[in-house]
Amino acid sequence: MQAAARTDVGMVREQNEDAFYIGDNVFAVADGMGGHDAGEVASGIAVRILRENKFNGADPEGWLRAVISEINAEIFRQASINPGYAGMGTTLTVLIIEGNRAYLGHVGDSRAYLLRDGMLRQLTDDHSVVGELLKRGVLTREEARFHPQRNIITRALGTFPQVDIDISSLDTRVGDRVLLCTDGLTSAVSDQELADILLSTHDPNQACNTLIDEANKRGGYDNTTVVVVYCS
Ligand code: MN
Repeated sequence: MQAAARTDVGMVREQNEDAFYIGDNVFAVADGMGGHDAGEVASGIAVRILRENKFNGADPEGWLRAVISEINAEIFRQASINPGYAGMGTTLTVLIIEGNRAYLGHVGDSRAYLLRDGMLRQLTDDHSVVGELLKRGVLTREEARFHPQRNIITRALGTFPQVDIDISSLDTRVGDRVLLCTDGLTSAVSDQELADILLSTHDPNQACNTLIDEANKRGGYDNTTVVVVYCS
C-alpha cells in the first residue's frame, strides 16, 4: 500500500479550513466550517482525535463509530463554551485499509472514490441538499456539480450533540486506487477527469499534485484536500 496527501488553500481564500490525516492504515479528510478560524479549529479537532485514538486492528466499524462520535461531541462541546466557535463544524471521511478490506466512516460532503479497472465509483453519499436530490434521481451528476445550492450541507460533525454516521465496507483488490477529497476538488473537476488523473501516474504523490493543480487552474475557489491510496 502506498499513500500520499496534500492540502491547498486555493486561489481565492485566505485560510485553509481543510485538514487531512495519514496514519499506518487510517486516512481521512475534513472540511471545516465556521467564522474566523473556527472552521480550522473544527477540522483540526477531527485530525487530533484520530491521531490520539490509534486504530488497533480490532472491530474497524466499531472504532470508526466511536472515534467519529467522540469528534462530534468534542467539536460540539468547544462550540458551546466558546462564543467565537459557535456553529463551527466539519465534514469527515475516514478510510481504514485492513488486509484486503476497506472501511469507511463518513459525514458531510467530502467524498471517497474507488478507481478499479479504469472505472471511478463514488463510495460515499454527499450529505447535502443537492446530494439528496441526486439520490432521489431529481438531478444528474453533472447538474449536481453546478447547482447553485451545492454547498449547502445537511449533516456535519459538531453542530448537534449526536450525529448519524454512514459506515460502509468493501473488499479491496491489488491495483485499486482510493481517493478521499474535499468538495474543493469535486466542484471543480469532473469524475471522468479524476479518473484520468488517477490513471495517469503510478506515484500517489504525483496524483495528489496534479489533482490540486487542476482544481487551482479552474479558479481554486475553495480549499482543496486530497488523499490518494494505491492498494497492493
Ligand atoms: Mn470545501
